[in-house]
Amino acid sequence: MKMLTAALLLTIPLWGQQGPTTREMNLIGWQEFQEWVPGRITTVILPVGTLEPHGVLPNGSDNLAPEAMARELAPALQALIAPTLNYGVTGGMQAFPGSFAISAEAYSAFISDILKGLAGNGFRNIIIFTGHGGPQTALLKSATDAASLDHRVRILVINWWSLAAEEVFAVFGENGGHAGNNETAYIMTVVPEHVHPERYSKDMATPYPGNNAWHAAPFPSSIALYEEGQGYPSFDKRKARTYYDRVNRRVLAVVQDIIAKWDRAGLYRDDR
Ligand SMILES: [Zn+2]
Repeated sequence: MKMLTAALLLTIPLWGQQGPTTREMNLIGWQEFQEWVPGRITTVILPVGTLEPHGVLPNGSDNLAPEAMARELAPALQALIAPTLNYGVTGGMQAFPGSFAISAEAYSAFISDILKGLAGNGFRNIIIFTGHGGPQTALLKSATDAASLDHRVRILVINWWSLAAEEVFAVFGENGGHAGNNETAYIMTVVPEHVHPERYSKDMATPYPGNNAWHAAPFPSSIALYEEGQGYPSFDKRKARTYYDRVNRRVLAVVQDIIAKWDRAGLYRDDR
C-alpha cells in the first residue's frame, strides 16, 4: 500500500494537481501564489458585506453568506478567495445593537484600493460576492466601473439574494425578505449553531413600504419583507439546504457565463 502511494505520487506531475494547497489569500504564501497567479489562476472572489441586524441570525450574516458562497464556488471557478471586507455602509438598520457603518467616502476609497491591489497582483476577473445591499450597492457599482477602466480588469458584482429571486419562490412558494426565509435558509446552512429560532416572533418583521408610502429612520425591524404577508423565516432545515444549493448553482452559472463571454469578446485578455 505504501509503495503504491509512493509510486502514484511520483507519476503525478506538479502541473496535474487540481489546485493550490489553499484557495484563500489569507493562507497562501507568496511563493505558491506566484506559481498560480496569473499563470494558472486568473480569477479572484472578493466577499463583501457589513455588520447589520438580521432577525435571529448573526449580525455578520452579510459577510458569512458571501464567504461561504466563495468557498463553495472557488474550485469550480478555478479562483482564489480574497479576505472578506466585513465592514460596510450599513444604512437604515445601523441603530440596532452591534451594528455600525463606514462612511460612504471611506468605503469607496477602501474598496477602490482593494480592487487596485487585486488587479495589480495579476487577476483578470474580480468577482465580488456581496451580502449587503442598501446604500452600498451604488457605491460598489461606481467603484467597480472606475476600477475596471483604470486597471483594465473585468469585475462582476453579484447581489446573490436578487440573483436568486426565483429560487426563493421555487423552494418556499413565496417571496423573501431581508433576514427572511431566504437569508435565514442560507445562513442556517452555513452556521446553524448561530441561528436562534427560540428568539423569533412574527412581529419582528415589517414589510418594506411600497410606493414611498413611508420612510422611517431607523427602520423599525431587522426583518424586512419584500412583500406584505410573505417571506417570514421558516427554519425548515431541509428547505434551507435545498435553497442553499440552488442559490450556489445559480450564482455559479451566471459567473461562468459572464466570464466565458468576456473571454469570447477578448476583453482585457492580453494585458497581464
Ligand atoms: Zn443580510
